[in-house]
Amino acid sequence: MDIPSCDMCEHPAAWRRPWDNTLVCIMHFNKSFLKKVQKTINKYQMLKRDDIIAIGLSGGKDSVVLLDVMAKLQKNHSTKLIAISIDEGIENYRENGLHFAKLAAERANVDHHIFSYKEFFGYDLDEALMILGENRLSPCSYCGPFRRKLLNEAARKVGATKLITGHNADDEAQTLLMNVMRGDLLKTLHSNPIPKFKNKAFVNRVKPFRRTTEQEIVVYANLNQIPYQEMSCPHAVEAYRGKIRNILTNLSVDDPGVIFSIINSADSLHDLGGLVSNNLKHDGNKEIFDCKKCGEPTNNDLCNSCRLIIEIENRENM
Ligand SMILES: [Zn+2]
Ligand SMILES: [Zn+2]
Repeated sequence: MDIPSCDMCEHPAAWRRPWDNTLVCIMHFNKSFLKKVQKTINKYQMLKRDDIIAIGLSGGKDSVVLLDVMAKLQKNHSTKLIAISIDEGIENYRENGLHFAKLAAERANVDHHIFSYKEFFGYDLDEALMILGENRLSPCSYCGPFRRKLLNEAARKVGATKLITGHNADDEAQTLLMNVMRGDLLKTLHSNPIPKFKNKAFVNRVKPFRRTTEQEIVVYANLNQIPYQEMSCPHAVEAYRGKIRNILTNLSVDDPGVIFSIINSADSLHDLGGLVSNNLKHDGNKEIFDCKKCGEPTNNDLCNSCRLIIEIENRENM
């Protein structure tokens, strides 16, 4: 069987882009992949030339591909890149992820720092779940805020001015739909892709893969032979997200560009938010405060992670 050739050169095609049916060889795929990420960074003014960038490196496909791409892109810039990994202390899972994170950092030739829940919060995730016992929330309800918190601390410790994460277009589209279906569209208005927080305890987070699909990331990893952790977290059963993901996968069969349409809708919302910028300072009717314990921006006296740590401490002392 003849392999069809790339639409842009004579080389054999390696992938057909589902949304415009273009055939691309490895070289042209990589070229357009990097170009798209750079365009996304520029479009949302995610990074400045003198930024020191910390990258959240879990060892999964999104973060290892992001590191590879950023290392290539920053060759033309004066920005500095530092990898940070979070060790939640999840048995039979995290060691495996850290292995792939290490490989990725070596490959990209960047400094790599590991920060653990145990060291920072005093508890491993597994340990905290044991202490909390039966009546606790789902593991992700604790782990999510802890990871966000420690990523921020880690980024500050390594002197970063920006934190980048591997969240991709599929993740972003799912999140928007989840907000819509929970009647919480304002939340989308507040997850503006353009960095905006001016709180000294908070390192602004940006997502250079906002317009890159999960499928493109997998293709990039495969074509460039980048190894990554394939095992998923034993606790990860965010059931609602899974359902939304299935809906989007089904819709994409007939409309391969549906993910981008949803991202465009989110962008229009942010533009609208700019027009009513007074409302941006408020989450519904709630104001944004500084957490009384750690100083990070929050809707309450305490941020989520500080509140959950107090819950664990109280439970342990009972
Ligand atoms: Zn080509
Ligand atoms: Zn706090």
